[in-house]
Amino acid sequence: MRYNGHVRVLIAEDEPALSEQLRQSLAGAGYAVDAAADGARADFLARTESYDAVLLDLGLPKVDGLTLLRQWREAGVATPVLVLTARGSWHEKVLGIDGGADDYMAKPFQMEEVLARLRALIRRASGQLLPELRCGDVALDPRLGRVTLAGAPVKLTSHEFRVLSYLMHHRGRLVSQAELTEHIYAQDFDRDSNTVEVFIARLRKKLGADVIETVRGLGYRMDAAS
Ligand code: CA
Repeated sequence: MRYNGHVRVLIAEDEPALSEQLRQSLAGAGYAVDAAADGARADFLARTESYDAVLLDLGLPKVDGLTLLRQWREAGVATPVLVLTARGSWHEKVLGIDGGADDYMAKPFQMEEVLARLRALIRRASGQLLPELRCGDVALDPRLGRVTLAGAPVKLTSHEFRVLSYLMHHRGRLVSQAELTEHIYAQDFDRDSNTVEVFIARLRKKLGADVIETVRGLGYRMDAAS
């Protein structure tokens, strides 16, 4: 199994078959995924949960996607949004981009392209210009879902990968245990914040004790300078 995803994504799509297809592809790529079938549910989740990106269909029941997008941007919700538009609707694309979308995909689309655009959005949102993330001897390639230590491949579980990926995307910054917990689990997952400590301990065992710094009582940090 390849873990080329980052962390947590919300799918707002009302066509059940398409939503399920997206969910399976994203989960298969290692993302924690939540799905909303209407605009009200999507709005609730986007405002109460923490996502690294949102896939947003514009034609949603209850509250349409464009209204949602404008409201989120006005409220300061900066999560990257990839808009899903009807085929050939250039008007929807223009409205979506003007409404604060970061990218768009016209239906029908190739799942590989959705995954590639998502990776790029999440990378850019965290200020990373290069596809491969580096921190000392540790390198993480989100395209391949691969982690290496001084060039040698390291095997990680999906949760370990998400924890490392999140810390590396936000390296140089202190990340609390609560923030990490928010970004590595889907909403229906039985969360236990103690497990973050377990993942950190396992990552240190696999990558070296000093790769991740613990700031007592506050959280974790990976070094920005490397
Ligand atoms: Ca729709």
